[in-house]
Amino acid sequence: MDKNLILRKLPRVDDLLKEEGVRELCMIYGKKEVLRAVREELDCLRRKILSEPWSNVSRDEAGETAEYDGMKNLIPSGLIPSAEKIAEQAALRLEEESQLSLRRVFNATGIILHTNLGRAPLGKRQMAAVLDAMSGYSNLEYNLSEGKRGKRQEHYAKLISRVTGAEAAVAVNNNAAAVTLILSALARGKEVIVSRGELIEIGGRFRIPEVMEQSGAVLKETGCTNRTRIRDYEKAVTENTGALLKVHTSNYKILGFTEEVSVEELAALGKKYHIPVIVDLGSGVLTDLEKFGLSHEPTVQEILQKGADIVCFSGDKLLGGPQAGIIAGKQSYIKEMEEHPLMRAFRLDKCTIAALAATFREYLNEEEACENIPVLKMLSRSTDELWAQAQETAWEISSRNQENTVTVEKSISMLGGGSMPLEEIPSCAVVIEPKGENAEEFARRLAELPVPIIAHIKNNRVILDMRTISEEELNDFKSYLAGACENRTHPGRC
Ligand SMILES: *Cc1c(COP(=O)(O)O)cnc(C)c1O
Repeated sequence: MDKNLILRKLPRVDDLLKEEGVRELCMIYGKKEVLRAVREELDCLRRKILSEPWSNVSRDEAGETAEYDGMKNLIPSGLIPSAEKIAEQAALRLEEESQLSLRRVFNATGIILHTNLGRAPLGKRQMAAVLDAMSGYSNLEYNLSEGKRGKRQEHYAKLISRVTGAEAAVAVNNNAAAVTLILSALARGKEVIVSRGELIEIGGRFRIPEVMEQSGAVLKETGCTNRTRIRDYEKAVTENTGALLKVHTSNYKILGFTEEVSVEELAALGKKYHIPVIVDLGSGVLTDLEKFGLSHEPTVQEILQKGADIVCFSGDKLLGGPQAGIIAGKQSYIKEMEEHPLMRAFRLDKCTIAALAATFREYLNEEEACENIPVLKMLSRSTDELWAQAQETAWEISSRNQENTVTVEKSISMLGGGSMPLEEIPSCAVVIEPKGENAEEFARRLAELPVPIIAHIKNNRVILDMRTISEEELNDFKSYLAGACENRTHPGRC
């Protein structure tokens, strides 16, 4: 059958522009944009018609409303939308496109540091600091008391020192940049000794051997994958050794017959040969995680107390702050980094500085930190609390639509972000088995909401974990979710 025949039945652009709805759109978006949207909508329809396997469409299926074009060809109803319908679709397209691409979502995955969902979310007080610093001019590099040029590090370095006990600190764009800067400043052209058990890859791109190469340091592996002893490090020391590097194996565990060298032992060795000891800690844990029922993760303070010269960690993992890489430790080494040419490329912008300083300010008082830093707050919520939140949500859904099967169940949250991969955190979830569509379709609709809801699917059921939905978000979350359960119309866009 000749599909061109069908294509010819589509409304023409000129006719569409005369539609009342389209004329209104022109007032909002301008004629040029509307014209483009209408053309795209028509192109999309043409492609759809051409790809339709429609020799399969029988006379019956085509139905009574099918149009008979006089050449023994049936055009299934609905294949050619009315001009009004096309205008509606173009309006949807324009509305969608006018939204910024990066926006807030509800994280119902239960993964607290979800790398694809922006890792650590910021709390009210952290955001207020950002808003204040970026609302106008700021004293970013101006010393107000002396009335002259100041340094941007001054806004956060002292706070980091107070919280971690480090002599000095500096921060850069992320922890990958921190490791690169440390190695470039302290070990360029020299050998850096690392245990074979700690040659990590994180997030697909951060790989210790490659970062080492980039920074101009030479990787000197020592020990074995499962066992490395202090004498392995000592044997590897030469006069060209620039640093001893210990990398926290954040995203994996080696089990069985294992042995690793403690920071104390490395520090003693470093002292003996006058070589700096660097620890890449990954997640910047500043508080004892055992109080949240998790296993112990070494804190920044501990690592420094044990004698590391330099420690670096991420700002947006367990620290709960903005994306950043924090370097803390000996003043003389920090100074070398501050003066390194890469520092200019890696330095923080004013928004991040504001958020970072506000984050560390919370840690001056641990209770404040647990209350005001969302990552810690989420970790501290009890399963009873989450159960109640799940029930409330389930009730709201059922009050609007009783057709789906909605239950409240125990679930498992994870830290995510490559942190503590074996740690399972008990949680609660609202579980929906949608009626009249499969779980994938339902989840896709959730992801297309004005504030998208991101959830997991398991056994054709959508699992909405409550640990990562905060109390402040709950009302909005419930109404969007209930709305999606009630209204099954899918935009059906191409
Ligand atoms: C996460 C991690 C990094 C990378 O940190 P980013 O802030 O994502 O750049 C580096 N090292 C370790 C040990 C990590 O866990």
